Amino acid sequence: MSEPSRSFSRGLQTEVQYLKGVGPRLAESLRKLGLRTVGDVLWHLPRRYDDRRNIPPIRSLRDGDLATVRGRVVDMVSKPLRKGMVLLKVAIEDETGGIDLTWFNQPWHARRFTGYRGEVIAFGTVKEGSHKLEMSSPDFELLDEQDDPDSFAALVPVYPLTEGTYQKVVRKAARSAVDHYLQSVEDPLPEALLREHQLEPLGWSLAQMHFPESEELQQRARRRLVFEEFLYLQLTLALRRAEVAQEIGIAFPIQALERGEPITPPLGDEPTDSLFAGPTQAVVRPPLWDEIRSMLPFELTRAQDRVVREIFADMQSVHPMNRLVQGDVGSGKTAVAACAILAAVRSGYQAALMAPTEILAEQHLASLRRLFEPLGIRVAPMLGKQRSTEKARAKTHAKIGLAHVVVGTHALVQQDVEFARLGLAVIDEQHRFGVLQRAALRAKSATNPDVLVMTATPIPRTLTMTLYGDLDLSVIDEMPAGRRPVKTHWKLPHDRGSVYTGLDRLLEEGRQAYVVCPVIMESEKMQTQAAVDLFDALKNTHFAHRRVGLLHGQMKAPEKEAVMEQFRAHEIDLLVSTTVIEVGVDVPNASVMVIEDANRFGLSQLHQLRGRVGRGAHQSYCILIGQATTDDARERLSIMTQTSDGFRIAEADLELRGPGEIAGTRQSGQLDFRVADLIQDGAMLEEARQAAMAIVQAHPHLMGEEWQLVREKLREQRIEEALITVS
Ligand code: ADP
Ligand code: MG
Repeated sequence: MSEPSRSFSRGLQTEVQYLKGVGPRLAESLRKLGLRTVGDVLWHLPRRYDDRRNIPPIRSLRDGDLATVRGRVVDMVSKPLRKGMVLLKVAIEDETGGIDLTWFNQPWHARRFTGYRGEVIAFGTVKEGSHKLEMSSPDFELLDEQDDPDSFAALVPVYPLTEGTYQKVVRKAARSAVDHYLQSVEDPLPEALLREHQLEPLGWSLAQMHFPESEELQQRARRRLVFEEFLYLQLTLALRRAEVAQEIGIAFPIQALERGEPITPPLGDEPTDSLFAGPTQAVVRPPLWDEIRSMLPFELTRAQDRVVREIFADMQSVHPMNRLVQGDVGSGKTAVAACAILAAVRSGYQAALMAPTEILAEQHLASLRRLFEPLGIRVAPMLGKQRSTEKARAKTHAKIGLAHVVVGTHALVQQDVEFARLGLAVIDEQHRFGVLQRAALRAKSATNPDVLVMTATPIPRTLTMTLYGDLDLSVIDEMPAGRRPVKTHWKLPHDRGSVYTGLDRLLEEGRQAYVVCPVIMESEKMQTQAAVDLFDALKNTHFAHRRVGLLHGQMKAPEKEAVMEQFRAHEIDLLVSTTVIEVGVDVPNASVMVIEDANRFGLSQLHQLRGRVGRGAHQSYCILIGQATTDDARERLSIMTQTSDGFRIAEADLELRGPGEIAGTRQSGQLDFRVADLIQDGAMLEEARQAAMAIVQAHPHLMGEEWQLVREKLREQRIEEALITVS
C-alpha cells in the first residue's frame, strides 16, 4: 500500500535517511515499518490523534475515563507474577497526583523505562485501583520537550507501529517530510475537479493529516483523500464499463421473437451434425411471452417481469449485456434467468449457467430441464465430479451445439470447454465467483456473449457499487405473492427437546425440515463428523419414526444428488446437513430450518440458510439454537429474529464484520483502502461514483493532459488486478 508513487517527482523518492533530523539509525527503524522514501513517510498516515491540547490534571481523572495523562516517572518495578507472567508498573506524577501505568509481559517497554526519570505521556482507560489510579497497557511515549515540539499542546498523530519502532521517530520523519517536501507533492486531480467537489489540494491535505491544526481541518483533509481513493476505484469500473459498452456483441432478435416472427438461425461454420446447422430455414414458434407463460408454472411477479424486460432490452442491443440481477433469497432469480436463456436459445444461440456449488448446479439442472425439455430444449450438465466419459460427452455436446443449455460449476470455465455458439452466460450467486471467472466465461465465445450475473447475497449498496460498479443493475424488490415471512425464534440449547416436539408436529402435517449442523472451522472432516453424529442421534431417538436423511460436503456428488432428489421427492422428512445446503437450494415443501450452534454463523450465512424455507404456501419457521457467547453473536441472533429484510441484514453484517469479509476479498487488497472506510464513507463513495461516470463521459479513456497523473495512478494501483483476485 505504501508504494511510492511514480507520479511524484524525484523529491519524494529521496531515501528517508536524508530527511533532516533522521539519519542512518532512525532510517533503519523506519525501514522496519516499510518506510524507505520520503513519499512513504508522507503516506504513512496516523491511525488516530491524541488530543494533547488540554491534558487533564491527574487528580481529576475518574474510573472509566479514556484519557491522556502527562507526568514524571517516579518509580518503576518489574516483577514476576505467576509462571511466565511479568508485571511492569511505572508510577508517574504531576503536581496534582499520581497514576500507575501497567503492562504484562512487555520486556521491551521495561527496557525503555529503565533509568528514565523524565516525563511520560500516556493514553488509555483509567481504572480506579484499590488505593491508586491505574492505566493498563496504555499507548505511551517518553517526552522531551526541547527535542520534540510536536509531541504536546496539539492534536498529536499516533501512527501504526511495529515492535521496535517509536511514535517519536515516525513523527519526526513526518515533520521533516511535511516541512521540506510538500512542494514535491503533485496533485493528480485537476483543479477544476477539486473546485467542483470542494476538495482541498493533496499537499495541504497530507500536512493536515499528519499535523492537524484542528479536528475540522483534519476532516477536510481526510475527505479529500477518501474521495481520491474512491475515485480511482470508480474510474476503473467506469472505464471498464465504457469499454464493454463499446464492444460489439450479439443483437438478439428479441422484438421479432416477441411478435412471433420466424427467426432464421444465424449461420455458422459448425459441423453438420449440429442442431443449429442443417437447413437454415426459419422456424415458426409462438410469441416469446406466450412461450414464457406456458413454460413457467406461475406468473412472474411485477418485479421479475420488469427485470426480464430490462434484460431483453440489453439482449436486443448490439452491445454485450453486462447486468447484475440482485434479489433477496427466494425472490425468484432462477425464473428470470430461465426467461433470458429461453430468449437466447430461441434466437439460435447456446446459454451457459454457472453456479458456485455442485448441489446448486444439480438443482438448476433439474429445474431447467423441467422447464425446457417440454419445449424441446436440451440441457446438459458440466460438473467437476462427473465421470470422464460423461464429461467428454457433455463437452462434445457443448462444442457441436447439441446442448442448447449447459449448466455447471466452475468446471464450465475450464480451458477445454468450448461452445458452438455461446450467446448468454448466466452466473448465479456471483459473490462466490471472481471477476476473473466472469471474464473467462465471456471468453468462451468469439461472439462476445451477453453476461447476466445474479446475486442473492444482499450486499449493501456501498459494496455493490464497489464490487459490481462495472455492471448495470436490476433489482428484484418483491417476493412472489402469498409468501409468509418466516417466523424466526432463538432458542437455548436446553430448549432442544421442545423444539423437536414442535418440529415433529409439522412433519406430521406433511412438512419437511432441515437441521443444519454447526460450522466447525477446524476442518471439513470434523464438520462431517458432527453431521453424522447428529444424524445418528436424531434417527435413533426423537425422529426414529421419521425418514431422516444426511447430507455433507464429503459425500460424492452422485450421493449428494441422490439425497437431494429424495428430499425433493419427499422420501425424506428431515434432512440433517452441513452448510452445503446454504446456497440456492429450493424445496418449497420444506418449512422448518433448525440451525444448531447458530451463534457460530455469520449473519449473511444465517440469512441464506433461512432462505431455504418460506418458499411454499405454508407458514415456515427458522429455529436458531445457540448461546450468545459474545456480544456480536447476541447481536446477530437478535437481528435475525427481528427482520427478514436481506438488505437490512446486509447493512448490519457490514457493520459487524467489515467489507473484506463480506465480499470474500480478504486478500485482494481491493477493499483495503488507505483512508476510506466503506461503512463510514458511503456518501463519499456515491459522490465519487457520480464524478467518475461524468469524467469518463466527458473525457473518454481519460484523454487529455490534465488526466495524465490520474491515468498513471490507475496504472500503478492496479485496481484492475485486485478486482480479478476476488475470492
Ligand atoms: P432465488 O432468487 O433465491 O434464487 P428461486 O429462483 O430459487 O429464488 O425461487 C424461489 C422459489 O420461488 C422457487 O420455488 C420458485 O419456483 C418460486 N417462484 C419464483 N418466482 C415465482 C413467482 N413469480 N410466483 C410464485 N413462485 C415463484
Ligand atoms: Mg437462486
